[in-house]
Amino acid sequence: MLDVLIIGAGPSGLFAADRLAAEGLAVTIVDRMPSPARKFLMAGRGGLNLTHSEGLAAFVGRYRQAEAFLSPLIGDFPPEALADWCHGLGEETFTGSSGRVFPASMKASPLLRAWLRRLEKNGVKLLTRHRFTGFADDGTALIQHENGTPESFPARATLLALGGASWPRLGSDAAWVSALEERGIGISRFRPANCGFRVAWSAVMKDRFAGTPLKRIGLRHGEKSVIGEALISESGLEGGAVYALSAELRDTIEADGSALLHVDLRPAKTAAALARRLARPRGKQSVSTYLKKTVKLNPAEQALLREAGPIPQDPDALAARIKAVPVTCAAPYGIERAISSAGGIRLDEVDEGLMLVKLPGVFAAGEMLDWEAPTGGYLLQACFATGHRAAQGLSAYLKNGNGDHTQ
Ligand SMILES: Cc1cc2nc3c(=O)[nH]c(=O)nc-3n(C[C@H](O)[C@H](O)[C@H](O)COP(=O)(O)OP(=O)(O)OC[C@H]3O[C@@H](n4cnc5c(N)ncnc54)[C@H](O)[C@@H]3O)c2cc1C
Repeated sequence: MLDVLIIGAGPSGLFAADRLAAEGLAVTIVDRMPSPARKFLMAGRGGLNLTHSEGLAAFVGRYRQAEAFLSPLIGDFPPEALADWCHGLGEETFTGSSGRVFPASMKASPLLRAWLRRLEKNGVKLLTRHRFTGFADDGTALIQHENGTPESFPARATLLALGGASWPRLGSDAAWVSALEERGIGISRFRPANCGFRVAWSAVMKDRFAGTPLKRIGLRHGEKSVIGEALISESGLEGGAVYALSAELRDTIEADGSALLHVDLRPAKTAAALARRLARPRGKQSVSTYLKKTVKLNPAEQALLREAGPIPQDPDALAARIKAVPVTCAAPYGIERAISSAGGIRLDEVDEGLMLVKLPGVFAAGEMLDWEAPTGGYLLQACFATGHRAAQGLSAYLKNGNGDHTQ
């Protein structure tokens, strides 16, 4: 009988396969898509930010409520181990000025090709267009080939690595939730993470400035602030700086119905310095020309300023507006456009080896577990670290003589 069935050929599943096959176990991976790791390849389009070089204490703090759960797993498989693993596949890595770690090629495809080659060499079978539909009464996974009927797929142990719920067209559509809930497994509702937000822009803002970037701005929500870039879209605001605050904005919207974001259009200048410039007489200049000349506000920045009401005449009030333009976020964009998701299998449903307590012999890894993280390499690092831990848990489970008569 097959030793291990892995369902989901994303980074978590493929990494666990790499570890388990290296131990000599017979591994088959199934995936519902025509080819593996589509989201990983999509991540490669942005340079493939594999992990981050900051110290471990700060690193694990990025996982918010899941810090305690992920901390030992990332301690066991830290960023340096991920970089070493890449080197072992012939991909050098480098650390950018932001501390983010990338493969030298800035792409996912060369790494994935080398990874799949090694899996094949180690005897791992990959079956694409095979969808997991649930479990048979005896706990065996049911797998349906395209156009076929679901058939049980016996294995000594099974790893679920089905991903979260964002970008479903890349494969992870979270259709597995009902199959696990039927087995009494608690699932936290999926919500968008690292996403943009809807803003009720005026017609001018939509018509003239959709698609315009806001560069080197500061964003603040509550206690948290970031400096970066955002993009005005027809329906709201998106981009790196918005994503960095998205968990907090989303949580505030869920609690209060909307969330206030403050945009600092000139984070490098103090309000006092801006007010001094704005105290110069305007003369016959239009307000737009005056704002352009005194504080170098471009048309999109001026439009944002006006979205918050008439431009204040008083230099101090105007400087204060430039330092904190209020923008009301009404709702996150849909999960289908989010980079990642929050929610998934509740963390108290798995044991230390990431086995589902209510389904012995079935393990889970990756974004389908209930943790979330900002962009910056924290997502992939947690996928690899959970894939690593699940492989260890599964291997120990089989070594202890389990799985021979079940599944
Ligand atoms: C645009 C974009 C850019 C990103 N950039 C980065 C980045 O630079 N750095 C970073 O750290 N993270 C990035 N991420 C996030 C990262 O790609 C994901 O966190 C990661 O791919 C999740 O890995 P996973 O193995 O858990 O799941 P996935 O990669 O989602 O893989 C799950 C697999 O399971 C399969 N599957 C799902 N349901 C079934 C089923 N019922 N039956 C069979 N197979 C099924 C899917 O087809 C899929 O292949 C990015 C994401 C996006 C969308």
